[in-house]
Amino acid sequence: RRKKIVEQCERLMDQPEQIRNIAIAAHIDHGKTTLTDNLLAGAGMISEDLAGEQLAMDTEEDEQERGITIDAANVSMTHNYQDKDYLINLIDTPGHVDFGGDVTRAMRAVDGALVVVDAVEGTMPQTETVVRQALRENVKPALFINKVDRLINELQEGPEEMQERLQEVIRDVNELIRGMAEERYEEDNWKVSVQDGTVAFGSALYNWAISAPSMAETGIDFGDVIEMERNDKRAELHKQSPLSDVVLDMVAEHFPNPVDAQPDRIPTVWRGDDSTQLAEDMQMVNKDGEVVFMVTDISMDPHAGEIATGRVFSGTLREGQELYVSGTAGKNRLQSVGVFMGGEREEVDSVPAGNVASVTGLKDAIAGSTVSSVEMTPFESIEHISEPVITKSIEAQKMDDLPKLIKVLQQVSKEDPTIGVEINEDTGEHLISGQGELHLEVITQRIERNQGIPVRTGEPIVVYREAPTQESEEVQGISPNRHNRFYVTVEPLSDELIDTIKLGEASMDMPEQERREALQEAGMEKETSQNVEEIVGTNVFIDDTKGIQHLNETMELIIEGLEEALEDGPLAAEPVEGALIRLHDARLHEDAIHRGPAQVIPAMREAVHRALIDAEIRLLEPIQDVRIDVPSEHMGAASGEIQGRRGRVDDMYQEGDLMVVEGIAPVEEMIGFSSDIRSATEGRASWNTENAGFRVLVDNLQPEKITEIRERKGMKTELPESINYF
Ligand code: GDP
Repeated sequence: RRKKIVEQCERLMDQPEQIRNIAIAAHIDHGKTTLTDNLLAGAGMISEDLAGEQLAMDTEEDEQERGITIDAANVSMTHNYQDKDYLINLIDTPGHVDFGGDVTRAMRAVDGALVVVDAVEGTMPQTETVVRQALRENVKPALFINKVDRLINELQEGPEEMQERLQEVIRDVNELIRGMAEERYEEDNWKVSVQDGTVAFGSALYNWAISAPSMAETGIDFGDVIEMERNDKRAELHKQSPLSDVVLDMVAEHFPNPVDAQPDRIPTVWRGDDSTQLAEDMQMVNKDGEVVFMVTDISMDPHAGEIATGRVFSGTLREGQELYVSGTAGKNRLQSVGVFMGGEREEVDSVPAGNVASVTGLKDAIAGSTVSSVEMTPFESIEHISEPVITKSIEAQKMDDLPKLIKVLQQVSKEDPTIGVEINEDTGEHLISGQGELHLEVITQRIERNQGIPVRTGEPIVVYREAPTQESEEVQGISPNRHNRFYVTVEPLSDELIDTIKLGEASMDMPEQERREALQEAGMEKETSQNVEEIVGTNVFIDDTKGIQHLNETMELIIEGLEEALEDGPLAAEPVEGALIRLHDARLHEDAIHRGPAQVIPAMREAVHRALIDAEIRLLEPIQDVRIDVPSEHMGAASGEIQGRRGRVDDMYQEGDLMVVEGIAPVEEMIGFSSDIRSATEGRASWNTENAGFRVLVDNLQPEKITEIRERKGMKTELPESINYF
């Protein structure tokens, strides 16, 4: 049987008109997992002994016995609708939506979003957020109202009350759609409606559903549903109007296929030159064009190893291909090409455009990578390198779990490129760093819940930076044996130069001429740009010396000293950024023995630190852009939550039926924000934060904060006397 399904899938992969790439968008607990399970079972995509009569399940125990709950997975299934076969690929969206980026990435790879809403709870803030994200990415919505059994059994509602409640959900969802995508709502009929068949109702738990088309076909209507639920005849109901048929019919009928969708979607998700052959290949779903593959997910398979899953927009993936991976220098070789059939990965010879593929061998790819046979503008251009701004320690509660925890941490950092994992060499504890408090909280929960590893975590600690604010005098650093001296100055780099370096537009990896031009374009003087010796982080080291004997052979050690100085800045041993360090002169001992590492490194480190202090170095703190979507009556409370955190509200405006409050606030003050905003707005706010780089901490907080960090690190809390400019 499985072999037959595999053959059917392979056949369908070559017929893009018969493919639907979709995501399920739901508030947590509204039934995404249960629904996915039953769609798969209904489509016959889970192994034989689990399918068939066992499906007529009545109780939760049955469900548990079947044990088929597929957690957070990409799955594919086939479905027959009006005598045609369809291949339906479901891309997983993360259940948590506080990180817009993750959801957006999944939405970019699909053409339709099945919005699932719990009939009892109605639309929730997270439903709103995911629907908005789908619409922003130009993805067409349809609605499944779940848990209708609860209206009947728990709330004892009659037909009229039920209809009213369901209408309200439909109205809410339509208001969202109209607010976000008015043109598509009016002109392309993106409104969801019962009559059109873009709304279905049912119970994922009891495995039945109805819709206008299903009622016309089976004659089973709301009255029958109430009747059968009340009299415990769910099995019969399931047989006559099964969930998977009703929902997958809706998917096949109302969601666009890749050929219809890609011409609209490519301009939304890709900012490259639309007059090129590559753009045309993607819009036309050309399986003979250049390969373009968007990775949405990295997962670990016990047999195949690391698997990258995503959408093929153009060309055909084949084993052995050498493909570029965006954001990295080299190419990766595809080791195997596969697709999901049911929840299991099956290797195939090739996967053409329009499909969802899962491949191995892309060792440099991360979730969000663009993988292609020619160098191209990536889908999600990396606009700013997202540096972790908050860190906490994590340890397994049980020693035995340690190896498992290490493996999971490695995996987590691959799946979510904005998470950093390292070991604190001094204490041996693991540190995870990420984009904010909630980001780390969710990761921790995932490890505890999904992997079953109980962990203990430390308090979140914010990462700071140190940066010069003025030009220094020339200062010297002297080696312990007093035979070697370095004369340096430090000055602040302009924001434009810092950005150029951050974006990788000027780096030591590129040809010298190109680097010089990039630096000059960003405002660096010509002569300075010609003397660049090294770039460390966002700091530039200039060698302005001339004809000093032995300097070349000592340069490696000089740079080591420089790196040490910049890694642990003079204020609080936080990394230095945005400094231009100039070496003006040096005295070196004749004899190599007297200018070894133990002499040169400390001398250079001292010189750089002294110059940084003379350049009035300051502590910088990370800040975040904050966006809150909230009903207008809670707008004041929402903006108060930003202002009360040393933050600033920059903009307030209406979007659809909600008010949007935008501003910035320091990451440190954002700790605890998630519970505060919830209580301040009765849970009606949805919000996103995005890191917005580092900002100089106000002067009156500098000494206190520096002392606090030094204390935490076990350094002398007293500041060196030279740092008396506060
Ligand atoms: P997810 O978080 O969206 O994946 O939601 P789940 O599928 O895990 O469902 C959350 C809870 O709701 C589970 O306890 C399910 O058994 C239950 N549930 C899901 N669908 C239904 C339904 O149609 N009716 C009822 N009564 N419970 C449901």
